[in-house]
Amino acid sequence: MQAGTLFTVSAPSGAGKTSLVKALVDSDSQVTVSVSHTTRPMRPGEQNGVNYHFVERESFVDMLGRDAFLEHAQVFDNFYGTSKEWVEETLAGGRDVILEIDWQGAAQVRRLLPDTVGIFILPPSQETLRERLTGRGQDDPAVIERRMSQAIDEMSHYVEADYLVINDDFQVALNELRAVVTAERQRLQRQQERHSGLLEALLRHR
Ligand code: 5GP
Repeated sequence: MQAGTLFTVSAPSGAGKTSLVKALVDSDSQVTVSVSHTTRPMRPGEQNGVNYHFVERESFVDMLGRDAFLEHAQVFDNFYGTSKEWVEETLAGGRDVILEIDWQGAAQVRRLLPDTVGIFILPPSQETLRERLTGRGQDDPAVIERRMSQAIDEMSHYVEADYLVINDDFQVALNELRAVVTAERQRLQRQQERHSGLLEALLRHR
């Protein structure tokens, strides 16, 4: 079976990355998203095993020691990591995998697996980003400013990606994200592996 394609999707918080990726995977059974391990506390409305595997710092360090992560990073004050086994098994099963990870993780994955396709999502303006961050109910101006500054640092890494999607209109951004995934599936090398029998038959002289 043809192995799936690995995608990284990075973005500052407030760019709409999680909603876009969720809408994409909900409408395409060929693509799935990796559930990361994290040491950060669960937020209201989150579910263990759905949004993240929420683990204690000790068990995260234990997994690190067992080389269980494809990549890992410290983001803000917490640790995040992607399960190597899950990603490898899912790709081997022929499905495309999306890693919703920060720029540090995307860089590690790209070094390890150069065929990985990097996608970056940006907001349409700093004003929109500020509104989206404020809209999360964190009205303390110092907190908003800290998150804005972190978002700007994350955004400065957009140049490391292969594709850039600006999330102004959600539906437009979703279509663009879908177009990237579809185009990558049609790459010549992947199609040659997928349709080797057909290609051989088509070129046979009678
Ligand atoms: P949050 O805590 O808001 O869910 O995520 C904070 C940041 O950590 C986001 O930029 C998110 O993409 C990133 N992140 C989530 N999971 C992982 C992971 O497994 N690895 C890396 N490197 N970053 C992650």
